[in-house]
Amino acid sequence: MRVSVIGTGYLGAVHAACMAEIGHEVLGVDADPEKVAGLADGRAPFYEPGFDELLSRMVRSGRLRFGTSLAEAAESGDIHFICVGTPQMPDTGAADMSLVDSVIDELAPQLRRGCLVVGKSTVPVGTAERLRARIAELAPVGVAADLAWNPEFLSEGTAIKDTLQPDRLVVGTATAMADAVLRMVYAPILVSGTPYVSTDLHTAELVKVSANAMLATKISFINAIADICDAVDADVVTLAEAIGLDSRIGPSSLAAGLGFGGGCLSKDIRALKARAEELGVIDSLNFLREIDELNIRRRRRTVDVARTLVDGSFADRNVAVLGVAFKPNTDDVRDSPALSVAVRIRHEGATVRVHDPEAASNARELFPDLDYATEPEKACEGADVVLHLTEWAQYQAIDPAYLASVVRQPRIVDARNVLPLDRWRSAGWTIRGLGRAAS
Ligand code: NAD
Repeated sequence: MRVSVIGTGYLGAVHAACMAEIGHEVLGVDADPEKVAGLADGRAPFYEPGFDELLSRMVRSGRLRFGTSLAEAAESGDIHFICVGTPQMPDTGAADMSLVDSVIDELAPQLRRGCLVVGKSTVPVGTAERLRARIAELAPVGVAADLAWNPEFLSEGTAIKDTLQPDRLVVGTATAMADAVLRMVYAPILVSGTPYVSTDLHTAELVKVSANAMLATKISFINAIADICDAVDADVVTLAEAIGLDSRIGPSSLAAGLGFGGGCLSKDIRALKARAEELGVIDSLNFLREIDELNIRRRRRTVDVARTLVDGSFADRNVAVLGVAFKPNTDDVRDSPALSVAVRIRHEGATVRVHDPEAASNARELFPDLDYATEPEKACEGADVVLHLTEWAQYQAIDPAYLASVVRQPRIVDARNVLPLDRWRSAGWTIRGLGRAAS
């Protein structure tokens, strides 16, 4: 099928390449001409494992092209996936719908042939119904241009696998025809038995934000328990393993530590709260404020723990930070808890030297006054304390005995609770986790 993907950021670029991989003719459209030029050349605009190879292979195959023209998309596409951003509004926390709205307002008047517009961006419930009416009003082809919502659940770091072998596909439609078209689009994925949840527009929109609210709640829950563990010298890692073995609970999203960040979870729970307020059901969703605050407090808590290791003050201290991406296997630093910790400590007077295998240049663009090192050991040279903030596998492979020889003081905060405490302690380190026994 002829597919266009509008908005080729972290979600759209991967979606476009994966649609080409399963056999469609794909045109990726983005408003950023520089990004488009790079993609058309087979150069990924961000780090995602396996994406460079997939992108260049699909571009070479001729099934994947990129451009900036919505007119070209409207003319050639049977399916138009909308993948532009829905960032947080600074004042209300609601989702800023201006990018999605402007794409629809520009695309719809150019729709002269029957097609299906498919929203993938994460949006407040009610958006799809509103946009479907808008397309019917603006499109020359009228109701032959339909709209469906197909929320995306991929995680950065595993985006290709999550797209080609998702846990499930969720599709909200208003007509049987739209549902049939999406079953055709995804046929090569469905053939391997991927669950396909077919529902109405409102439910599909809500599935996405509810899933993110559930993940955020689980993470903040275990972080709340980490604080109790800290108060009594219990170990939250063992505790999480034990409760995760309960099949009713499951082990995922129970890693206590510095908490969540990135371009999705925080903004999505704030947007859900804002929408609940508009719908008059905020009493039922108020707990999300506490989930959000608990998560933000993890950043302060990490700074506090680190400060105790440098005798109460960061002034004139050297602090090494390992990891600034919001999680491993991405270069995304949007709302990164690690970067937030690094910047707070810098503001308290420390010299902060940062390492990240992929996210350093994105971080440097936002915070040029942090120091950036090309190797973890360089970041740690002469450090009074080391902060392990993003759990890249390479940090877990560091030899603590060697690292002890480059720092000024062998003191480390493992804010992701993944380093083996005994190994680091026997190499002479004072190591503190979050919710792990201090002694
Ligand atoms: P992003 O900012 O990386 O990408 C958005 C892209 O849209 C950018 O390249 C931007 O230039 C482009 N764009 C903006 N206006 C445009 C226009 N008028 N025409 C064409 N292109 C335009 O954002 P993202 O992380 O890819 O997220 C996009 C949406 O997907 C959001 O709603 C997000 O919540 C949702 N989502 C993201 C992820 C993820 O892991 N990143 C996962 C699931 C859902």
